[in-house]
Amino acid sequence: MSYSVCKFGGSSLASAELFEETRRIIDSDKSRKYIVVSAPGKSKEYKYKVTDLLFNVARDGNHKVDGIKMELNRGESAAEIISIYTKIMTDMGLTPEMREPIIDGLKKDFSKTFSDQDKKEAYFASRGEHYSARLMHLYLNHKGMKASLALPEDCGLLLTGHPTNAAFDVSCADYVKAKLSALPGIIVVPGYYALLKDGTVAVLPRSGSDISQTFVAHAVNASRCENFTDVDGIARANPKIVPEASQIKEICFDETRELAHLDSKVPAAALPHLIPHRIPFYVKSTKNPNGDGTIVCSDRMVPAEERIAGVSSKKKYAVINISRLLLNEDLGVDAEISRTFSDLGILIEHIPSGIDTLSVVFEKKYIEKPGLLNELERRLQEKVPGADIIMKEEMAQVVVAGRGMRNHHDVASRTLSALAKEKIKPLMLNMGASDISFFIAVHENSADEAVRAIYKEFF
Ligand code: ASP
Repeated sequence: MSYSVCKFGGSSLASAELFEETRRIIDSDKSRKYIVVSAPGKSKEYKYKVTDLLFNVARDGNHKVDGIKMELNRGESAAEIISIYTKIMTDMGLTPEMREPIIDGLKKDFSKTFSDQDKKEAYFASRGEHYSARLMHLYLNHKGMKASLALPEDCGLLLTGHPTNAAFDVSCADYVKAKLSALPGIIVVPGYYALLKDGTVAVLPRSGSDISQTFVAHAVNASRCENFTDVDGIARANPKIVPEASQIKEICFDETRELAHLDSKVPAAALPHLIPHRIPFYVKSTKNPNGDGTIVCSDRMVPAEERIAGVSSKKKYAVINISRLLLNEDLGVDAEISRTFSDLGILIEHIPSGIDTLSVVFEKKYIEKPGLLNELERRLQEKVPGADIIMKEEMAQVVVAGRGMRNHHDVASRTLSALAKEKIKPLMLNMGASDISFFIAVHENSADEAVRAIYKEFF
């Protein structure tokens, strides 16, 4: 039989009612065997996601959500987490005996001490998914569905890297497959966390349950992934910027990666585990599980008239422009410049260049650490003596992507005239030979308008 690996996001698990909707979705299709769960998300009663509350406990009340310090202190956050799980379990009709292990477990976790702050944050952050999975397992069995719990610590799911920003260690896939295949019934797996080789609990980047889902799909060689969330599928532009943006029915992995690279709603980081096996990834709404949703897959027929699949954007970029006469004849200078950035842990996104100039584009977050920008400029000056080094910030990147652009000559010209009509000046352009996407840098203040203008031009 071919199996689906389903993932339910925090918005599908924020109340007992939502757990029940989720249960019905699982029950309605016998191929839905592997269930990856996130931590409960925000709800009408609770303003914060459980994961943010957990980070706030680990950071003694100093955690920020979207750059704003949370309104709760450590103790209030811990109390809120207990209250969220208690409410869900009470509303589910679970008896006090059934609720007790979860609440006791949380209380014990909150009293744990750590000597390493990163390990402490990873451990605390992981608890949302840990208890969510235990609860889902409990609830499915309570409702008469046969389910097994596969905690990463028991089924051999391994991560590698930094405890709060890890990645799957692909060498564990066969072992995980053997372990999971031996379990009866529906298999519930917590997303977002697993163990490092030395037994330390580590977490993936935020929203990492999507990555857990695709890694499990890769390990068990699933026939599809179904990602249940609060939207009907992937939109052609971020609906917060273009509320009328239409849904994409079918899109390829490469197109999604280009768009997703800039727009976190699309699970770009999750797709690499699926691509070699051509496992399709469906994005569906928990509220409308029988709807078409969006299918992300290896290949598709691109309609003749289609020019682009979508447009996305991201703010908070900076660029360092390096200029010096005869820069183009300085063999290896670009490699030296790249190395200077990587030595300081700065991930470069693009390097558009002229003859005597070279611009390095990266996310501003990398230079927020005090002293880092100064150090970067000092090292660059050393590597390229006599160069003018100028930094510009407040930049956004807009990407226009889709396989359709290969079949049309006018995608770039129409994009630029759409911007010109709105008096938006492109600050930089970047177009590779893949003919599947191009990037335009604009001032942060114009980014949303740029996305709207491009969307209107093509859809
Ligand atoms: N709960 C984690 C987060 O909020 C991971 C996830 O939801 O995928 O980022």
